[in-house]
Amino acid sequence: MGLAVRLSYGTLDELVERFAVNISRGGVFIRTRDPKPVGTLLVLELRLSGGEAAIRGEGVVRWIQAEDPTAHPRRAPGMGVQFTKLDDASRALVERMVELKERRGVAPGVVAPAPIADRPDGTPAPTRAPSAAIPAPPRAAATPTPAPAFPSPAQADLAAPHRAEQLLAGPARLDLGLPASPRPVARPSRAIIGIDLGTSNSCAAIVKDGRPYVIPSREGHNTVPSIVGLNARHRIVVGHLAKAQLLTNPKATVSGAKRLIGRAYDTPLVQEIRAKYPYAIVPGEDGAAAVRLGPETVSLEQISALVLGEVRDVAQNHLREEVNRAVITVPAYYNERQRAAVREAAALAGLRVERILNEPTAAALAYAYGRHLNQRVLVYDLGGGTFDASVLELSDNVYEVVSTGGDTFLGGVDFDGQIVDRLLAIWEERTGVPFPDDRVALSRLVDAAERAKCALSERAEFPVSLPYLALRDGAPIALEAVLTREEIVALVEPLVDRTLDVCREVLLAKGLGTKDIDEVLLVGGQSRMPLVHQKVAAFFGRPPSHAVHPDEAVALGAALLAHSLGSAEGVVLIDVLPMSIGIGLPGGRVKTIIERNTPLPARKQYGLTTTRDGQTEFELAVFQGESGAASECEYLGTLRLGGLPPGPRGMVKIAVGFELGAECLLTVTARELNTGREVQAVMSAREGAEAARRKLEQGGGADAARAQTGNFPAPGPGDVAADAGAGGAAVSNGGRALGGLFRKLFGRRPEAR
Ligand code: ADP
Ligand code: MG
Repeated sequence: MGLAVRLSYGTLDELVERFAVNISRGGVFIRTRDPKPVGTLLVLELRLSGGEAAIRGEGVVRWIQAEDPTAHPRRAPGMGVQFTKLDDASRALVERMVELKERRGVAPGVVAPAPIADRPDGTPAPTRAPSAAIPAPPRAAATPTPAPAFPSPAQADLAAPHRAEQLLAGPARLDLGLPASPRPVARPSRAIIGIDLGTSNSCAAIVKDGRPYVIPSREGHNTVPSIVGLNARHRIVVGHLAKAQLLTNPKATVSGAKRLIGRAYDTPLVQEIRAKYPYAIVPGEDGAAAVRLGPETVSLEQISALVLGEVRDVAQNHLREEVNRAVITVPAYYNERQRAAVREAAALAGLRVERILNEPTAAALAYAYGRHLNQRVLVYDLGGGTFDASVLELSDNVYEVVSTGGDTFLGGVDFDGQIVDRLLAIWEERTGVPFPDDRVALSRLVDAAERAKCALSERAEFPVSLPYLALRDGAPIALEAVLTREEIVALVEPLVDRTLDVCREVLLAKGLGTKDIDEVLLVGGQSRMPLVHQKVAAFFGRPPSHAVHPDEAVALGAALLAHSLGSAEGVVLIDVLPMSIGIGLPGGRVKTIIERNTPLPARKQYGLTTTRDGQTEFELAVFQGESGAASECEYLGTLRLGGLPPGPRGMVKIAVGFELGAECLLTVTARELNTGREVQAVMSAREGAEAARRKLEQGGGADAARAQTGNFPAPGPGDVAADAGAGGAAVSNGGRALGGLFRKLFGRRPEAR
């Protein structure tokens, strides 16, 4: 967790002079009434009174001091934090303080060697290893002189008052400190960052002096792992800290949230992931997939909000100013619900989304921004969990996606899976015993497979060595194997071929051939594999471009778009609908209303007539996908029309307008044609996918059966629906947003199903 301590000293000199007493080379004593449990990992920042950071690093709580008012002098409550990492400037400052203290003869080095921080009273800190769920901190570099003890209580009390005043600043919190409601953005920040919210890693970029760059974190990483965990002390950890516990605490460590966000729980895809992932995936609110962390059911929006919050913190620390606006990228293949979910996650993290941007468009921006190119490019994005292929036509500052396709279940983890299978086979062959049915052992295997895969992008052979995987007759058994590049190429080649099938399809959809592509841009970490280069080059008949950085292009493109929003030389982005949108028909069929690859924004009319005398209500289930079967499409929600004027059946005609904004957000309007009156059209996903499908299969939804497209006058210009935000759907009533009704439907917790 993040811990910021604001001290009462205005300058570094004052800090050195007066705070030295609380510092040793090994750690710091922090006075607080709310000490974190022993073992808690902290990202630590000690700030001067003006807010500037003086000491930054990471640490682990090693002991807690209870308040003792009877002691003389009084003993303040607090915690001893052992440094596990300090940046160079902080280390130098600590060194100055320690030297000063030694000159003054305070707290001579009488105790245990670094890095264990001892108790203020001089008794050694407990040497018990931290609990299994907390990775032991790396041992600090040995210092030539023994580390002095922590200050005695008396000395601690000499220090000017300070306390831990801000614990991971932020949103309204549940027990675990999860973001629970959107954080209002008081004043829009000057800076707009671009965020690549990845399956494996996320990062932020910004444009400065006309050049985009990826914002580094204080620890020197360019990316934040998109991982959230609950540690053994019941604290939420995010990013690198969460990744550190992936091996030891897989059940309470959520990775790959991007594959789950915005998906209904009761879909085959989610069930497939559920069987594979070590953490618990459960039904959440509104039938959405959610995860279980300790006692709580956590939405994927909340998980992603924590990751976005971490990225935002990195950006704020780097820029030293508030950041509450962002352009966030998503796979082109994301449907409407997934996009809406990302928006909601951003709101929970206190970020105003200026634009949701498709990843391939972002990559194309990174490639072509300001270069006035006239080219047709194909963006080949093979990341950790998804594959996307998109064809874009670039002309000057216009970026038009003309065709897009992908596979939301094809990425680096699938490559890892193939290697894991191979390692499992080697294990059984060599040891003759089944691989232990143990999550930790399996996690270690998966981790080793990924390492081997990445290493084999650079070299021809890689030794895998996993000691102590299991016990046989009391003796540990290890897995030792040498993997070769050739071997894994054979294993993963079919996966690369699948990506090329998608490319072929995407080209074909627009009647294009490989010769029609001027440049192929490779992005995503998995595209670094030499096999991918080779196969792509062979397929397109030319080597892919080297002009974009596979890991950074998407974030850089997002930053460039963010930059262009505030500048005169704006870019024009034209996207297409990634998957068709249609409505459910009886018998579980789906009728397409707006075709895939339709340029956005788009609008389509659908005509309905009443089927019963005196009918005043209508229902339409809306789906997204290419299949004609409702069971194979993503359920978006049910459209309810109310307030129809009663009349004989067939005589009341309604034109339903489906409108897709530039970002693929769907809004729906409806107009009763005889009187020209707007009727209420509400999209709600509350019903749940299965219930909606069941209804159709049981012959319900007959309303839709007698509906017909076309032949209805298009609604007039006054018919623009208001964007109702989070749900992605909107309501319209004579041009006025029915915000209250929307909130009533979406704001309330759904009944248990
Ligand atoms: P995402 O956009 O989904 O977060 P990334 O673009 O960060 O994903 O790609 C992550 C994937 O790339 C992981 O599966 C990782 O193992 C893989 N990867 C990273 N570097 C290499 C490499 N040098 N060779 C092969 N695969 C790599
Ligand atoms: Mg990516």
